Amino acid sequence: MKYELPKLNYAYDALEPFIDAQTMEIHHSKHHQAYTDNFNKALEAHSDLVEMPVEELLSKVNELSVDEKEKNALRNHGGGYYNHKLFWEIMDPANKKDESLIKDVKKEFGSVDSFKEQFSEAAKTLFGSGWAWLARDATGKLQVYGLPNQDSPFQKGHIPIICLDVWEHAYYLKYQNRRPEYIENWWNTLKLI
Ligand code: MN
Repeated sequence: MKYELPKLNYAYDALEPFIDAQTMEIHHSKHHQAYTDNFNKALEAHSDLVEMPVEELLSKVNELSVDEKEKNALRNHGGGYYNHKLFWEIMDPANKKDESLIKDVKKEFGSVDSFKEQFSEAAKTLFGSGWAWLARDATGKLQVYGLPNQDSPFQKGHIPIICLDVWEHAYYLKYQNRRPEYIENWWNTLKLI
């Protein structure tokens, strides 16, 4: 098994009241574990891809010469593995800001509030399951957009920086159908900005 479920740097209840402990525990120990296990399974038939860094694999996943079903498994479970890993890392009760990123965000979006507005809008309007992203394109420009399922900015040749999971499993226990309220509260958990 190449990939293991990444450990959290904080307790399941550390993001309360914005994200409840039960949601965190199920999300991490069940959902993320399943993506990790299924990613390992999808890699079993592809010893050449096991050695490839996950970032590179995700950037090339749509061009791989494997059959559609295997490609879908690698994209969905590899994406699920990576996206959740990043999600846990950018949330932290210690809440350390990244001044250099804040400077770039202000330059690109005018203000932190304007960035937050655009990002929240992408998260709110994403139809069905997926993630909102802040990513850097190949020229270094920051971009905000939503992607469906477990798709990754790496597939567009971008570097992901901030992500927000808007699959119902990420918020339904506490927020039910109130996705906008989850998004609004989630900003309190984000370090970096
Ligand atoms: Mn999730």
